[in-house]
Amino acid sequence: MVRDTSGERLFRYRRGPDHRHYLICTECGLSRPVDSGPVEQWADTIAQTSGFANVRHTVELSGVCPDCGRRHTAAERR
Ligand SMILES: [Zn+2]
Ligand SMILES: [Zn+2]
Repeated sequence: MVRDTSGERLFRYRRGPDHRHYLICTECGLSRPVDSGPVEQWADTIAQTSGFANVRHTVELSGVCPDCGRRHTAAERR
């Protein structure tokens, strides 16, 4: 059995290519990665200025994708 150390936890949290935010369609469930640069910078700044350690964030964007939007428009017009 391998025990977690706080060091490993810190390492695991380190931001990598797999850290992404997604825009999720509430109609069909489609999700696409979005550019979160400003969010990451903001989070980093907050972490640095607050003195908090291991600051993490969750950002989720949801809406209706273009395909579903078109479907709605078509249905309304008939
Ligand atoms: Zn959709
Ligand atoms: Zn992020």
